[in-house]
Amino acid sequence: PRTRSALKDAIRTIPDYPKPGILFRDITTLLGDARAFRRAVDELVHPFAGGRIDQVAGIEARGFILGGAIAHQLSSGFVPIRKKGKLPHTTVSIAYALEYGTDEMEIHSDAVKPGDRVILVDDLIATGGTATAAVELLRRIGAEVVAACFVIDLPELGGADRLRALDLPVRTLIEFE
Ligand code: IMP
Repeated sequence: PRTRSALKDAIRTIPDYPKPGILFRDITTLLGDARAFRRAVDELVHPFAGGRIDQVAGIEARGFILGGAIAHQLSSGFVPIRKKGKLPHTTVSIAYALEYGTDEMEIHSDAVKPGDRVILVDDLIATGGTATAAVELLRRIGAEVVAACFVIDLPELGGADRLRALDLPVRTLIEFE
């Protein structure tokens, strides 16, 4: 549809970033385009408008920008999921696989109330390693994760299917090969 191709056109592709052979999908151009930013947020929240979403959880760092806007739109709270060592209060952490090696992310252990209905947000899903770990963190602290939302899906890498296998509805707006 027209809207989706306008969104796709608002994303910039940077070859060989951060490493040779990688095509980096850069959403800063979409964020800087007022109409595209609003459209992306409106389309991501569309299925949830009118339902109860207690918290939107965003993955550092681009998930914070989208997640803050989505939380405002849904009148929800916002919960940051951060790289290890950045959150000041008691945390729960999880290690997850990167292409080379592992990393750790954290959430405040009291960030949600038991049974809170939570949507997870990030800019892009590739292998799903990051989002799968984030879902695990949210479930460990008692959240009911009702959906995961991403502007961009790289379907060949299988991340969205991996999340759906965890019984999680996945909403994405644009695909790149
Ligand atoms: P995954 O864990 O393999 O699904 O990778 C997704 C994570 O890496 C997300 O936090 C994305 O923000 C980041 N990421 C991977 N590739 C890109 C890209 O091309 N553009 C922007 N972010 C990316």
